[in-house]
Amino acid sequence: MQFPIRATDAPRFSAALPEACDVVVVGAGVAGVMSAYYLAKAGRRVVLLEKGRVAGEQSSRNWGWIRQQGRDPAELPIMMEAMRLWEGLADELGPDLGFARCGVAYLSDRPGAMDGFEAWVTLARAHGLESHLLGRAQLAAAVPHRTNWVGGLITPSDARAEPFVAVPMLAGLAEKAGVTIIEGCAVRALDLAAGKVAGVVTEKGRIRAGQVLVAAGAWSSLFLRRHGLALPQLLVRSSVAQTAPMPEITQISAVDDVFAWRRRLDGGYTLAPGTSHDFYLGPDALRHFLKYVPQMRRDLSKTAIHPRAPAAGWPDGWFTSRHWAEDRESPFERMRVLDPPPNRIYLNNVTRAFARAFPSLGAPKLIRSWAGMIDVLPDTVPVLDAAPIAGLYVATGLSGHGFGIGPGVGRVMAALMTGAPPGHDLTRFRWKRFTDGSKIDLGPTF
Ligand SMILES: Cc1cc2nc3c(=O)[nH]c(=O)nc-3n(C[C@H](O)[C@H](O)[C@H](O)COP(=O)(O)OP(=O)(O)OC[C@H]3O[C@@H](n4cnc5c(N)ncnc54)[C@H](O)[C@@H]3O)c2cc1C
Repeated sequence: MQFPIRATDAPRFSAALPEACDVVVVGAGVAGVMSAYYLAKAGRRVVLLEKGRVAGEQSSRNWGWIRQQGRDPAELPIMMEAMRLWEGLADELGPDLGFARCGVAYLSDRPGAMDGFEAWVTLARAHGLESHLLGRAQLAAAVPHRTNWVGGLITPSDARAEPFVAVPMLAGLAEKAGVTIIEGCAVRALDLAAGKVAGVVTEKGRIRAGQVLVAAGAWSSLFLRRHGLALPQLLVRSSVAQTAPMPEITQISAVDDVFAWRRRLDGGYTLAPGTSHDFYLGPDALRHFLKYVPQMRRDLSKTAIHPRAPAAGWPDGWFTSRHWAEDRESPFERMRVLDPPPNRIYLNNVTRAFARAFPSLGAPKLIRSWAGMIDVLPDTVPVLDAAPIAGLYVATGLSGHGFGIGPGVGRVMAALMTGAPPGHDLTRFRWKRFTDGSKIDLGPTF
């Protein structure tokens, strides 16, 4: 499996377009793949359509953390279920998935940070999850380092997997479960009859279906807007680098205020800025400005704002078309894989911080760098709900932590769409929360 996944890679999933099915899933990232899988297991005829390649966007570009720690209280039970599901998937798919219970730690040189960590330990305990504080000495024993970290927080049962390998493997499993997967097949629009979903119009033709799930990641808002549905979704660019193989300091994945790391299956590290990211202005940024004020108050100092996207055709580009005819090329075909250039300044800072923290390893040699556009919502938790068109469902806005929770999201969406009890309280993830006058209730950054 090559990384980054590109539109020029030979497609691995190229079934013929059927005339009809029960459910069409738009987008083969982890949310779409896992939803399709659980829908097929529930007996539905499912077609999963991907404009580019399976996991070409966020789902292969992420850090590979499978993290319960620091989750929004409403997400935590779904994430804990997702962890159990990952365990079962790893049993089924074997070691290539890269799943390992390595532990995830948050580290800080600010004594005040320990109070927040302590509050998390109490919440985790209430859910039966073991998380604990790391004092200076414990931290030095677990992660030998040379920094000013005063301590940290760890959840030993947290895990990792190799995203660019894992999600295509999960798609393989979905295919075995009966899902028809077609790469290089953009969905241009919903096909509506009497105000209800009757199927989709794709670049290869129509498919009749009574239900459609939009799991289109960074493109969900653009897709839905064509049908008059306003979703206040924006995107941030997050940059990542891969080192050459290096000696192991610890199996634990960790983050402090400056940098984050994860041990890779190939013996290198995935390195990234802890919280710094980039934001490109566009029409949606202006449209949804007020809803993002709480998030901006918290995160503005970590956000580099740019006047425009780096290329034409970006989901929220100034000149990206918002209206297109069903029989014409859509914005989704014009950009098969969203592949932003990484922010080199951030990556240089991260490399220096890593070298300072672990001088015994020597300066890390970066052999690859990339970025991904993370789709966020104003409160940093997703929408997992039916949308206001009969037959239409949405699973999007996974906001920087969707890889780990992906199997849980898939299981929950399949339950919602088949009328089974979802098993969790999904009120926090309702579609209407941005229009029913609710106050923005900001979830955690990490
Ligand atoms: C740099 C980075 C680091 C991250 N680190 C972590 C981490 O460590 N742990 C974690 O849990 N999460 C992490 N995340 C977040 C995580 O990767 C995402 O939340 C998750 O992958 C989102 O999955 P998705 O399926 O919703 O979207 P995506 O993976 O973006 O998939 C959406 C798919 O829909 C397709 N699509 C869009 N429109 C159409 C259309 N009209 N027709 C057909 N196909 C369409 C797209 O091509 C795309 O492949 C990170 C993200 C990034 C970018």
